[in-house]
Amino acid sequence: MNISAAITVTPILVADLLVEGEVMPVYVHVIDHPDARVLVDTGMTELHPAVVAAFDPLLYPLSRQDFDVAGIDIVVNTHLHADHCGGNHLFADRPIYVQRRELDDARSEDDYTIREWVNAPGLRYVPVDGELDLLPGVRLVPAPGHTPGTQVVVVETGGRPVVICGDAAVWFGELDEPRTEGQQRIRALDPEKVWLAHEHEPWRPGVGHTEDQGPAEPRDGQGWSTT
Ligand SMILES: [Zn+2]
Repeated sequence: MNISAAITVTPILVADLLVEGEVMPVYVHVIDHPDARVLVDTGMTELHPAVVAAFDPLLYPLSRQDFDVAGIDIVVNTHLHADHCGGNHLFADRPIYVQRRELDDARSEDDYTIREWVNAPGLRYVPVDGELDLLPGVRLVPAPGHTPGTQVVVVETGGRPVVICGDAAVWFGELDEPRTEGQQRIRALDPEKVWLAHEHEPWRPGVGHTEDQGPAEPRDGQGWSTT
């Protein structure tokens, strides 16, 4: 069997944030693979005063959706900003793959994330140094930029790869004109499409994204308030 052809990626909306007066969706992604079901990022499941002040979010937690939490075998965090790891506590008995650099930064730097969400009881992180073949046709690739420890998930689907990029690019323009090492690495993969955490549709190369100009101010990539 061609394993790659059997791998699918499904986006799930878990929150809407209010950022600079605009609604910014938060997606997590499920990879259905013949060997395992993988969840990439976990969204948020509860309101925290710091998050409310920054984003005034509407939450649609995985635990309150028609979502099979128990059916997830493996979790991947692209990075550990609050809107990407707030549901980690739902997966305390599953391995959670994250770059070691990201885990170290989230546990040591002030105002990086909501640390109690990262350090929820019983979590079993698997720190990763660099690239890792997670499953046949699914690999983790470091993509520094949004945070130094950001990683993306590269899925072979039979043709050009599909990338789940978290916030390595927050809006389409960042892949149209890649600047960070991570964005350039994603483009070098020649992906068929790239799923972003904060866009409803995937980015595709060669498609004009003129309607999406991104935020007025460049994001500084520091702290959980930068999504
Ligand atoms: Zn984000």
